[in-house]
Amino acid sequence: SRDGASVKTATPMISQYVEIKAANPDSLLFYRMGDFYELFFEDAAVAARALGIMLTKRGKHLGEDIPMCGVPVERANDYLQKLIALGHRVAVCEQLEDPAEAKKRGAKSVVRRDVVRLVTPGTITEDALLDPGRPNAFAALSRLRAKDGGWRWGFASVDISTGAFTVGERAEAELVSALCRQEPREIVLAEELSREPGLRALLQGCAAPLSPVGREALAGAAAERRLMDFFRVSTLEGFGALSAAEIAAAALAIHYVERTQRGERPALSPPTSLRDSPILEIDAATRANLEIAQTLSGSREGSLIEAIDLTVTPAGARAFAERLGAPSTEPAEIGARLDAVAFFLEAARAREGLRERLARAPDLVRALARLSLQRGGPRDLAGLAAGLCVAREIAAFLSSADATLPPPPHVARELAALAAADAALERRLKESLVPEPPADRRAGGFIAQGVDAELDEARGLRDESRRVVAGFQSQYAEAAGVRQLKVKHNNFLGFFVEVPQAQGERLLKAPLDQLFTHRQTMADAMRFTTRELVELDQKIAQASDRAQAREEALFAALSEEVLAQTAEIRRIAQAFATLDGIAALAEIAARRDWVRPTVDASLDFEIEGGRHPVVEAALKANGKLFAPNDCALSGGKIAVVTGPNMAGKSTFLRQNALIALLAQAGSYVPAEKARIGVVDRLFSRVGASDDLARGRSTFMVEMVETAAILNSAGPRALVILDEIGRGTATFDGLSIAWATIEHLCATNRSRALFATHFHELTRLAKRLPSLVNLTMKVSERSGEIVFLHEVVPGAADRSYGVHVAELAGLPKSVVSRAHEILSELEAQDRRAPIEKMIDDLPLFSHRPPTPERKDPLRLALAAIEPDTLTPREALTLLYELKDKA
Ligand code: ADP
Repeated sequence: SRDGASVKTATPMISQYVEIKAANPDSLLFYRMGDFYELFFEDAAVAARALGIMLTKRGKHLGEDIPMCGVPVERANDYLQKLIALGHRVAVCEQLEDPAEAKKRGAKSVVRRDVVRLVTPGTITEDALLDPGRPNAFAALSRLRAKDGGWRWGFASVDISTGAFTVGERAEAELVSALCRQEPREIVLAEELSREPGLRALLQGCAAPLSPVGREALAGAAAERRLMDFFRVSTLEGFGALSAAEIAAAALAIHYVERTQRGERPALSPPTSLRDSPILEIDAATRANLEIAQTLSGSREGSLIEAIDLTVTPAGARAFAERLGAPSTEPAEIGARLDAVAFFLEAARAREGLRERLARAPDLVRALARLSLQRGGPRDLAGLAAGLCVAREIAAFLSSADATLPPPPHVARELAALAAADAALERRLKESLVPEPPADRRAGGFIAQGVDAELDEARGLRDESRRVVAGFQSQYAEAAGVRQLKVKHNNFLGFFVEVPQAQGERLLKAPLDQLFTHRQTMADAMRFTTRELVELDQKIAQASDRAQAREEALFAALSEEVLAQTAEIRRIAQAFATLDGIAALAEIAARRDWVRPTVDASLDFEIEGGRHPVVEAALKANGKLFAPNDCALSGGKIAVVTGPNMAGKSTFLRQNALIALLAQAGSYVPAEKARIGVVDRLFSRVGASDDLARGRSTFMVEMVETAAILNSAGPRALVILDEIGRGTATFDGLSIAWATIEHLCATNRSRALFATHFHELTRLAKRLPSLVNLTMKVSERSGEIVFLHEVVPGAADRSYGVHVAELAGLPKSVVSRAHEILSELEAQDRRAPIEKMIDDLPLFSHRPPTPERKDPLRLALAAIEPDTLTPREALTLLYELKDKA
């Protein structure tokens, strides 16, 4: 029931509400009232709109109606999920005492309440709210002035649902790509920082909402102290050498954990620095553009990961995504990862056996996280037992005769971790719990019989008392001389005696009234209690309470035991996830016929028969074949790719970037052969008109991103530029594209693919030795045009745009008129001086090329030959020119 007492008077309750709300201004306040969470005032309006629920009123405050809406407690998770997905934060405010307690203090007292938890996008732990296959982390940012006067940014990434905790430090220019790699759901930073005008622009590539925190933002000694306190250590040295910026970010992250979890201490692993592992840098735009985790339109379907992730566990899926998000740049490490994949590719039975067993392993880290936050249940304990069991099974299975080859180091390392699973803990959990325990510990009945003498005794008493009732029934029937007498139970009376109305009268008279106390008269029955039944009621209630308390205590003890092994269990979970990821890569290699790439320290790039993994799969689903293509960019070649729209240029560009990414992540690749000199940075950009979703001037975005590449790509980079310069007027665009290619050749010397519809650019190959021209083959037989999606040397001679328009279903009359206009324009174009200009213009000129002016007045003037004009014609012309002005 909602606590009615405070509602009628409204004021004490509302003043409590206002106070709590004032302490949590940036969250929607879920204010617990009995079986509902209620929202008031502005919160109510916001939530009602977001959730599509009724906005009503309740009482008045300062003479005004109070807007209100409410959600039932048992469905709160659904509503929380919606609000979180919309980027809201929710403060959950619970009743901290029984309403009866409050009443004892006086009629007007309000039930004590407080916020027990902040639910924010980056701090959720409930399975119902989490995406099982993806990490759910928030990032914390700190900023310190470096010696050179620039800024150093520290960032920490914490996933409370798994305990993962990483930190890093970057210069400003590299911050966003490092941050985006972590896919944070939320970015925590100091309020002052969040208000700086440049900050939003800096974090542009990161879609996560910002969560500013007040003055508490920590630095220096206070930051260190906060970390030491949380991890209960007396020095941070055990965590490796962390920089000041990293420590500040880590301390801010811990502060945020404490703030949102309100006193509960999640089991986080100690912070590890990302600095030491050399990683293929992929900036935010490239990540988006290559559609690695999601497509440009934001859906998961159609992304690289969705197309190739064959892992069988959610933790494996997370590890898989992480691995593709952080390819290595060390040939030795990449080789070792590939060895592991090769092992499972060859040992097909070992792979199948492993995957089958992994599928039975529960999500250990997320269960562990819930237990550490006191949000766990008996099912989490059972899951941990099952996980430990699977760990030992897998270790035994893979070291048995089933696997013929000795496992390579990356696999052996994980197997050793699995073999170390604690059999004693597993046994104790299994023996302690009933076979299928409930998720919620308040349901009770999850500790098995025979585990605990005290629990058994309390339960025995409770159950026996129920049997005693049956004895009472016959005893009372005899005493009263009423055969139809029944002993029943309800919540209001407890145990009671019921007799038909007709016989009831007898029990009201002496001597039976000594035994039976009348309680209720119904239409056709009368109800009585007895002293014995009342006592029995109490005894049963006591026994139930005792059983429940005992079960709670046993649960707490088992949780304790599990949490004492947090590090070991986390290691096992990590081994599951890693093995799942490796086996999944072997599985996809087997199913899709991928090959092992060679990755070395050269500057080569030779792909034979490469395919685009996502496009290929989509075509296959429609019964179509993908045309494989070669790509040779060794030694810093730039390929200019021309060809009609829809011929496959973008696909070709991206597939080569994806092959490099997969190879360095330690995956086999969709090609017949691949040799790649390690790539240190991957850049991929698409010309503006493909990217209309974003608000700011798309051409500006395109240029900003191109600038980033030209300013930072080196000979180890792989650069993919798709239709750069398309977003502006032809001559602007051509000039920019042209100058960009020159810069890539002369200064960056990166391996690059450059798709363009400026056919004029192919002429540059004559003068730039590192430039090669590629084009998409088109077959044109008796007017029938077919795109073969085949990449061949050379330049496109036509763009076939009209053909594409025809395919798209433009009316026939429009298509034939377009053909007419096109041939007329092409005839004129032969006279156009552009290509000649390209041949003539000095290379790498610092003066921008002066574009031809298409001013009609100038054109008309240029066409005049004064010597051939009669005075009358001259006068007419003069009038015409004046009209044009
Ligand atoms: P462009 O960038 O030249 O406009 P896309 O790369 O977007 O062309 O490709 C257009 C379509 O052509 C793709 O959606 C795909 O269906 C098909 N396609 C592209 N490359 C191939 C290929 N190598 N083999 C078969 N079909 C392809």
